[in-house]
Amino acid sequence: MSAQLIDGKAIAATIRGEIKTEVEQMKTQYGRVPGLAAVLVGERKDSQTYVRMKKKACAEVGITSFGYNLPADISQEELLKVVRDLNANPDVHGILVQLPLPDHLDDEEILGAISLEKDVDGFHPLNIGRLSMKRRDPLFVPCTPKGCIELLDRSGVSIEGKRAVVLGRSNIVGLPVAMLLLHRNATLTICHSRTQDLPGVVREADILIAAVGRAEMVKGDWVKPGAVVIDVGVNAVDDPTAKKGYKLVGDVDFNEVKEVAAMITPVPGGVGPMTIAMLMRNTLDGAKHGPGMK
Ligand code: NDP
Repeated sequence: MSAQLIDGKAIAATIRGEIKTEVEQMKTQYGRVPGLAAVLVGERKDSQTYVRMKKKACAEVGITSFGYNLPADISQEELLKVVRDLNANPDVHGILVQLPLPDHLDDEEILGAISLEKDVDGFHPLNIGRLSMKRRDPLFVPCTPKGCIELLDRSGVSIEGKRAVVLGRSNIVGLPVAMLLLHRNATLTICHSRTQDLPGVVREADILIAAVGRAEMVKGDWVKPGAVVIDVGVNAVDDPTAKKGYKLVGDVDFNEVKEVAAMITPVPGGVGPMTIAMLMRNTLDGAKHGPGMK
């Protein structure tokens, strides 16, 4: 393997350690700790797993977590009430509503009801709007995109002036990570399902962020030698040799691309752990700006 591995698991563990120290200091100084409310609607197994992982991370760093497991048939009004009650709760500094919500619920209205000061997922339309404008700092930046930039920073990769290509334009990953790269003065290209000559465009990247949800789509000959590759994708593919019958792979063909790139994140163990570490960071930051903690 020629590429240097960007070890998201290790970097995330370092960040969680830093957060734990800051939470302990907050407790000593103010007698309070940050609180995160996780709102889960319905019984989706993947969402349950994500919420469980987030609660576990909270416990590890000393953040109090409040869990709300709500029935799949909850009404829009009832869910809005839960969010408004959490907005008013002074022990809660961050509110996350686990997506996707069941189809009958209007997620835009729900996310828009979260207090700006507690929007630790960074999906409030105002926070996203600020992220999309020059010199308008959002209060919170979405966790996965923030994690991608943190991986670059902590690996010593300079962004300014580089050609960055983002594969994917979703509201959750592609679009916000593209905005962050632009704020850091990268020269940016965003690709999507209608992009022509995708391999040719990807090959221009000094920094490639892949967030398409297509197993091992990015091949070795798509990548410029010496590029830095951040693979956000998490895709389950059949693997009869694995205990569960499947394995997780990224959007990048790791075995091919590691021979060409200068640096690469693995899947799992790359961006995934960073997403949760950034949620902890956002919750701590929310608590720092909360009442009685200035
Ligand atoms: P979405 O499905 O919302 O978006 C996928 C994007 O990729 C779209 O913009 C789509 O284009 C584009 N796309 C799809 N197929 C192609 C193709 N063949 N060629 C070019 N572009 C294509 O996915 P998400 O952004 O939510 O997630 C992307 C991946 O990241 C998934 O694997 C997901 O599991 C993973 N993920 C990982 C997280 C982590 O913490 N590690 C967190 C969140 C997501 P168009 O807009 O034209 O449809």
